Amino acid sequence: MERYFWHLSGPQADGLACVVCGANFLLRKIMSVPVGRSPADESQVFACKEPCAGRIADEADRMAREMRTAAGMDGVDVPDCDDSPFSVDGHFGSLLRDLRALAGTEALLTVSDDIPAIRFLLSLTARHAEAAMMRARLVLAQTKEGEE
Ligand SMILES: [Zn+2]
Repeated sequence: MERYFWHLSGPQADGLACVVCGANFLLRKIMSVPVGRSPADESQVFACKEPCAGRIADEADRMAREMRTAAGMDGVDVPDCDDSPFSVDGHFGSLLRDLRALAGTEALLTVSDDIPAIRFLLSLTARHAEAAMMRARLVLAQTKEGEE
C-alpha cells in the first residue's frame, strides 16, 4: 500500500511496532499486517491485524465518504469496480494518497529546520504534487467521457 504514516516512533518506522496503538511486535505475539509506508525511507510499516488494521480501513472509508460529500457526489453510490473513475483502487485512490502525502509533508515542513530534511521534503512535495496533478487530470478526463 502507498499510504504514508507520519510522526512515527523509531520502532514504528522500522516496522517493529503498530502504527496505531504502538504495540511492540517483538515483545508481544500479535498478528501484524502491512498498512503503508514510512515517509522517511519508504519502508513498510505495520499494524495489529486486529483491531488496528480495521481502524485504518474504517478511517479510509470515512475519508472517502467525506471526499465524495465535498465533491458534491453525496448520495451517489460509487461502485467499487475498476471501471469507475472514483474507484479507490484507481487513479482517484492514488490521487487521495498523493494529497494526504502532501498534507503530511506540509506538517513536517513547518517543524523541520535542517536543510537536508527540508530538501528531502521539498523533493517529496514536487513528486506528489506532480503525480496529483496528472491523476486529477486523468480522473477529470474519465469523468468527462462518462457524461457523454
Ligand atoms: Zn495495534
